[in-house]
Amino acid sequence: MPDSNNNAKAAIDKWVTAEVRAMQAYRVPSSTGLIKLDAMESPYQLPAQLQREWLARLGEVAVNRYPDPDGAELKVLFRSCFSIPDECGLMLGNGSDELIQIIAMLVGGTDRVLLAPTPTFSMYKLIAVTTASEFVGVPLRNDFSLDRDALLDAIARHKPACVFLAYPNNPTGNCFDSTTIKQVLNNAPGLVVLDEAYFAFCQKSFVNEIATYPNLIVLRTMSKSGLAGLRLGMMIGNPEWTEQMEKLRLPYNSNILSQASAQFYLQHHDILQRQAEQIRADRNWVFQEMSRISGIETFPSEANFLFFRVQQNPDKFFESLREKGVLIKNLHQQSLPENPLKNAMRVTIGTPDENREFIAALKSSMADD
Ligand code: PMP
Repeated sequence: MPDSNNNAKAAIDKWVTAEVRAMQAYRVPSSTGLIKLDAMESPYQLPAQLQREWLARLGEVAVNRYPDPDGAELKVLFRSCFSIPDECGLMLGNGSDELIQIIAMLVGGTDRVLLAPTPTFSMYKLIAVTTASEFVGVPLRNDFSLDRDALLDAIARHKPACVFLAYPNNPTGNCFDSTTIKQVLNNAPGLVVLDEAYFAFCQKSFVNEIATYPNLIVLRTMSKSGLAGLRLGMMIGNPEWTEQMEKLRLPYNSNILSQASAQFYLQHHDILQRQAEQIRADRNWVFQEMSRISGIETFPSEANFLFFRVQQNPDKFFESLREKGVLIKNLHQQSLPENPLKNAMRVTIGTPDENREFIAALKSSMADD
């Protein structure tokens, strides 16, 4: 269809902004046949008997009906499992990705700045571009802590509509200093989003600060606790703000099977918590093992993944692990010559067996060099 393709391209040049045309769509590599340690998913499902009960429950769901647009029953469970104060507003999203997008749609746009320390979760920038907002990144210090002066200076200069702080940060795994975060909350003219996607593994939260800071929004997700496939995120904040956000949410953004499944899972929240504890213990084991291997530098983490740098050629190293059956995330592809992601990798903590296989593949990849 060469003619019609050319016509489409001409129309795209006319109607699609240069910023979006210059972007790459978010791509996910195939993981078929590999140990999948690239996306911070939980390696666990529910025990077999509960798995059967859950599937039976799903069999009773009236999929011919629209879901509850507010997810009211699920929200009651969220509030009790995650100790969310009654006075806070709560909104559900199709993953926290969608909630980040709703925030950007509400306060971003032309001549608006969205700001985040970098490196951080790539969706903040991607969503800024797709909402015609300007993205400003403020580099973290070499130890991945917030550069307080640079951050406050950038906030004063750019007056961001929203500051995103991933807590713990992805991909570096650390939690930022809470005193500096409070300074950001006090100085930011717009919203400050504390993205607590990895809350299950660190248990530190700003939820109880919402009453103090009306510009604070906290995000959580079920994705890291065994439900990545269901796409369920939560926004918690001052009810005045969540009321505005609700206007931008599509009515049935969390589907009926996801709502029913999350309800079932949260009725067994103790199991999810035990799985998270297991992952934290295994993260410490993987960290210790990696620290003993020369040629790699591994950073402490409060999340379900570890950030590390390799001395050898990062692309060859990544390929060598993949040939040995282990898929991790090669962050080096996104890096410029001297940025903090040079030679950087991220590995998700899996089951103890998967972790052992990763360590074995790592050791043999280092030996290959
Ligand atoms: N925030 C952070 C910091 C993340 O790392 C991720 C997932 N990689 C998300 C949000 C997105 O989570 P969800 O699956 O809920 O969209």
